[in-house]
Amino acid sequence: TEWPAKKVRDTFIKFFEGKNHVYWKSSPVVPHNDPTLLFVNAGMNQYKSILLGTVDPKTDRSKLRKACNTQKCIRAGGEHNDLDNVGKDTYHHTFFEMLGHWSFGDYFKKNAIGLAWELLTKAYGLPTDRIYATYFGGDKNLPPDNDARDVWRKFLPRERVLPFGCKDNFWEMGDTGPCGPCTRIHYDRVGNRDAASFVNNDDPTCIEIWNLVFIQFNKESNGSLKPFRPKYVYTGMGFERLTSVLQNKMSNYDTDVFMPIFDVIQQVTGARTYSGKVGPDDADKVDMAYRVIADHIRTLSFAIADGASPGNEGREYVLRRILHRAVRYGSEVLKAPEGFFSKLVKIVVEIMGDIFPELKQHEARIGGIIAAEEASFGKTLVKLMVEERGLTVDVEGFKIGMDEAREKSRSARNEMIASSSDAIRVRTDCTGSGDLVAANDLEALPTYF
Ligand code: ATP
Repeated sequence: TEWPAKKVRDTFIKFFEGKNHVYWKSSPVVPHNDPTLLFVNAGMNQYKSILLGTVDPKTDRSKLRKACNTQKCIRAGGEHNDLDNVGKDTYHHTFFEMLGHWSFGDYFKKNAIGLAWELLTKAYGLPTDRIYATYFGGDKNLPPDNDARDVWRKFLPRERVLPFGCKDNFWEMGDTGPCGPCTRIHYDRVGNRDAASFVNNDDPTCIEIWNLVFIQFNKESNGSLKPFRPKYVYTGMGFERLTSVLQNKMSNYDTDVFMPIFDVIQQVTGARTYSGKVGPDDADKVDMAYRVIADHIRTLSFAIADGASPGNEGREYVLRRILHRAVRYGSEVLKAPEGFFSKLVKIVVEIMGDIFPELKQHEARIGGIIAAEEASFGKTLVKLMVEERGLTVDVEGFKIGMDEAREKSRSARNEMIASSSDAIRVRTDCTGSGDLVAANDLEALPTYF
């Protein structure tokens, strides 16, 4: 392919560095200093102190005016929870990278959209007739964003510049605070057709790739909007989605972000090869299992590399659930031998370890934690399968074991719900929510290992 994933990412970063943006490293995906947020779920998390004006003036971060980065995100709990759907579609993952460009009081709508357009159509060479833009068309007494509309109309015909309301095109950081209209770029994977009616319609052939947020208001506690000065731009583009459109694929999973992981899944499970089907049929379950497992091994690897591990509470419980989900799909659908899941760590480190060296650094630990968790779940799984096949077991002993397990998971679940609703309190409606690891906290992260 002309656009291997690595080149897609490098091109993004080089493009913005060439426009005088500072490359700002991803923060850890595990927000150790923020008990209200399960995982970092958007590029903005690590800049929240800038947005709120609480940034430490002694740090480099306080001097940032134009930045770009690729942020590790996990959406598997709290407000942004894509876990149960992952595997069923072709473009949502629990772990993904969010590419972004930022202006903290430098340029605004015209340049932000202009840069996005130049990158997509010139640097990447995407065909312009596949691109649709949405903008805020006014809603709930808020004025329409005609500035964004007019910028888009210079690039796109009117019928591909579409207005939507608050749900899709107005971004808020929380119930109060910085907010503003956003414009989203959608891409038609098929072409040669009018796809306007597919935009914002959960159609896998016409997907959103990029959200550009214009922070120009501050929402006061009485609900009124005051101007936010200076104005900021915050954008987020799904790296895996971008890669799939550049590789001209209909699914994120058909790219070199996931295919090498599929190859190893095939080798360690002995299952039939991935055929890319999405649907409710039994045959498609095998393909779904591939997607679930490949997605989940990335999430587990990155979360563990950044210092979390599966356990009984909060984010640890989420990780345990993700691991159990992957192992069940493996053993029940792909008939994988016990221990298959931890064998996938190596390939994740191989394909992602250059850009995220923490994976290389902690490879042994990641493998060890996953193998141990997998082994202990394997025992429970045998019990579950015995039950499902109607075989006889030591019923009394089994019942006691199950009661204990239920009690454990109930209390863990309660804690998870409690911590998710905390995260919702600092929610956002569009791109990203929650708190972040402040500048100096990043440097001061504890040594976990
Ligand atoms: P969608 O409605 O498609 O789920 P979103 O509104 O949740 O997207 P944002 O929060 O605006 O998306 O995130 C910015 C970008 O990050 C999106 O345009 C998309 O490309 C990407 N993205 C968001 N969620 C996911 C996910 N679960 N997996 C992969 N990419 C994602």
